[in-house]
Amino acid sequence: MLEMIVFFIFGLIVGSFLNVVVLRTRSGQKISQGRSKCPKCKKIIKWHENIPVVSFVLLRGRCAGCKKKISWQYPLVEFSTGLLFAGTAWRFLENFSPEAILSTLFICAWVAIAVVIVVYDMRHMEIPMIPLWIGVGITLVYQAIMILTGRENILSVAIGGVVGFLLFWAMAYFSKEKWMGMGDAYVGLFMGVTLGWTMLLVGLWTAFIAGGIVAMIVLVTKMKSLKNHLPFAPFLLFGWIVALFFGEKMLAIFLGL
Ligand SMILES: [Zn+2]
Repeated sequence: MLEMIVFFIFGLIVGSFLNVVVLRTRSGQKISQGRSKCPKCKKIIKWHENIPVVSFVLLRGRCAGCKKKISWQYPLVEFSTGLLFAGTAWRFLENFSPEAILSTLFICAWVAIAVVIVVYDMRHMEIPMIPLWIGVGITLVYQAIMILTGRENILSVAIGGVVGFLLFWAMAYFSKEKWMGMGDAYVGLFMGVTLGWTMLLVGLWTAFIAGGIVAMIVLVTKMKSLKNHLPFAPFLLFGWIVALFFGEKMLAIFLGL
């Protein structure tokens, strides 16, 4: 329980950093470039106005300088990252061996990358490639360790990556990017190498069901703004996290039926 609280707070802080990553990736600034400023009045944000979630509540969602509204994206990303990190500790931190801690931290890094991709895709309808490549790079290091120590099967990771990439590459290519964008192929690659091919199938299955349900709601309620522009990466990464946390249980239930 205590470790989940620690990871929750760790996630809040990382989430605050991820907001900066999304913002500065778009504007082409360096991540480390200077203190955060209010995008409206350019006032430098003081440390006590920058405490994840807490400051947003204390300031009632408004900038301390110009009183303009601060986007809900900030506390939402912080809180979600906190919950996801706590979930990662709950699922993967089985004991306090260096091995389990290292594994949990690697998976937290995957989760952080996934959060950046989801937020970026929802805001800009585009997959940010640099965070994605960092995610794939981290994963290849992690899986190499897992394969060399006999905890993961090289074929599972390789087939996962190839299937994840080719499936979405083909859908993007043959639909001329109408069904999927080419960026989704790289999200498929990320899913495949992190999950391995069996869990990839569970993740894709979940993603398509979730995407189908939301697409139907959009059609029925005629939310026109979303009709032609429903980004798919959030569904893919939703399926991914479900498979990562619950995939083995889900598969056991399917196979039992
Ligand atoms: Zn301001």
